[in-house]
Amino acid sequence: MSQKKNLLGLSQDSLEKFFQKINEPKFRAKQLTKWVHQKGILDFDQMTDFNISLREKLKEISSLQIPKVYKSFESKDGTIKYLIQLESGSMIEMVEIPDKKRRTLCISSQAGCALQCTFCATGAQGFDQNLSSDEIIGQLWISNFYKNNKKTITNVVFMGMGEPLLNFEPVIEAAKIMKDQFAYGLSRKRITISTSGIVPNIDQLSKNIDVSLAISLHAADDKLRDEIVPINKKYPIKSLIESCRNYLMSYENKRSITIEYILIKDINDSLKDAAKVSKLLSNITCKINLIPFNSFKGSSYEKPSNNKIHVFKDFLMNKGFITTLRTTRGDEVSAACGQLVGNLVRPVKGKKLISHKSL
Ligand code: SAH
Ligand code: SF4
Repeated sequence: MSQKKNLLGLSQDSLEKFFQKINEPKFRAKQLTKWVHQKGILDFDQMTDFNISLREKLKEISSLQIPKVYKSFESKDGTIKYLIQLESGSMIEMVEIPDKKRRTLCISSQAGCALQCTFCATGAQGFDQNLSSDEIIGQLWISNFYKNNKKTITNVVFMGMGEPLLNFEPVIEAAKIMKDQFAYGLSRKRITISTSGIVPNIDQLSKNIDVSLAISLHAADDKLRDEIVPINKKYPIKSLIESCRNYLMSYENKRSITIEYILIKDINDSLKDAAKVSKLLSNITCKINLIPFNSFKGSSYEKPSNNKIHVFKDFLMNKGFITTLRTTRGDEVSAACGQLVGNLVRPVKGKKLISHKSL
């Protein structure tokens, strides 16, 4: 493992501190950010506005290391799933979804997830590790620059593997780089952090960075939510709704939250459930995104019929909620929501990577 400091995951502020420590002027941070995140250059020798002695020094004490693309799969609809290997050997997945003028990247913040939502393949896999900020921003770098890619990512969603608010600092540091106009320059509307409801960190979010927030609600009463989103036992619905309200208030009610609601046949898809959702969200400025359950091996849940999905949606629309239905993309390469499992387990003591068939 490299002992050199990986500069890939440092925001401009952190890079300024790094350069100050080595007695270089602060503006080097901006120069380096541009080389790495605007031009896709990782080789210090190509950074022509750095003199030779600085390049040598940087090579000696630091590195610019991206995670390894282990494999990529392209679906007929243009969705690309990347299997990425971290320095530890763990595997994560990210998904690139082209859509008209947009190109959305769904990234991972953890390898696996500890929260064990009953409908999620990542949760079924268990928790492996947190990603560092360079492993998080590295995913966006790969999507933009890998193999001289000519495609530019326009939107990033933290909806891949893991719970982003349980890996708070690295996620914030990476999001700062995403927003930086000398890096990717994505506006707050184009970066979405999705959380299953880590209440104390939702409260911290607006104090640290201004990005869009999505809440994975999935059930509007504690009994059901305790069962399907077990973190609800720790942070029940009342506290979650209160922190949503506080979040909106911190922006003087000029923002909206996305509420994600997965629809699972006979579990949370009745009109009674829709009525509960509508009542619960009556004081929250939000739009609701309904996600029909995507199946994965080992799960006994099913997706409701199209008719049932539309009845649920129409009910919420009639109550005045902007309600959208997420269409499934990349299903044939298992790249759809909740199907991300890393699919390979980490190599142990020189053993070869093996397929993770049990999921
Ligand atoms: N941990 C975070 C972000 C990753 S999950 C969270 O839970 O919000 C991203 C989204 O995928 C969540 O809304 C999650 O509920 C949804 N999802 C998980 N499993 C799914 C499945 N099997 N089918 C459809 N959506 C799923
Ligand atoms: Fe973790 Fe999100 Fe999956 Fe729940 S839905 S297990 S929080 S990744």
